[in-house]
Amino acid sequence: MKRILAFLLVIFFLAACVHNKYASTNKSYKKQVKNYAKLLREYPVKDSAGLQYADNWVGTTNFSMRRPNFVIIHHTAQDSCEQTLRTFTLPRTAVSAHYVVCEDGTVHHMLNDLLREHHAGLGKWGSVSDMNSCSIGIEIDNNGSEPFTEPQMNSLLQLLDRLKKAYNIPQANFIGHMDWAPGRKVDPSRYFSWQILAEKGFGFWYDTTNVEVPADFNALQALRIVGYNINNPEIAIQSYKIHFVPQDTTKVITDADKKILFDLLKKYQ
Ligand SMILES: [Zn+2]
Repeated sequence: MKRILAFLLVIFFLAACVHNKYASTNKSYKKQVKNYAKLLREYPVKDSAGLQYADNWVGTTNFSMRRPNFVIIHHTAQDSCEQTLRTFTLPRTAVSAHYVVCEDGTVHHMLNDLLREHHAGLGKWGSVSDMNSCSIGIEIDNNGSEPFTEPQMNSLLQLLDRLKKAYNIPQANFIGHMDWAPGRKVDPSRYFSWQILAEKGFGFWYDTTNVEVPADFNALQALRIVGYNINNPEIAIQSYKIHFVPQDTTKVITDADKKILFDLLKKYQ
């Protein structure tokens, strides 16, 4: 009887260990959230300095939490969801995402949507220069040289639908990491179908049937108006191609691109 009990205890502890694999990093999550909550509880509000403050503090009664206005899609460039979960729970990597979508369609929600994660890094889109502060980051488990799976795309579409509705995110504001950081990032790869997303209302796609491009059309300015940082035209074109013309690996604007951009311009401006 004692032996059976001991055996059961061992099984119980083993199960507990497996279950609590991320117990210590979850504890760190909770601690950090607690610190931010503490910050929010501070009054009088004193997070700006050097002003001539009124003697009596008056807090408004009408407010809510700030909400994300963009969604940035990535591929993990790693070999498994487990590897990515580990990366996002090691402080030294300093990278994270709100969501990780695994190959089998499982979704890990790693951070509250209202908190700022570290996924976008340096970049520019339109006049936005701090994407981490205004976006949701979604990492799709994919090594960058393979197609995305059907369960994964289904989960992603479901997730995008929820985010779009919950935060009233404009259709134009669903973009890729490479759109945000041309030259520095190339994810999600050319295997990712932005056309499927656009058909469901996440980002825009184009229809070049009967499109006539005016002779003075400036394709580079069109790229800028869509959102791309055109300081370095070649890498801006590369990111545009990954997104909108994945079969074309060149970095030059063709007549076909002019038609595409002329049509996209109407949607993005
Ligand atoms: Zn990325």
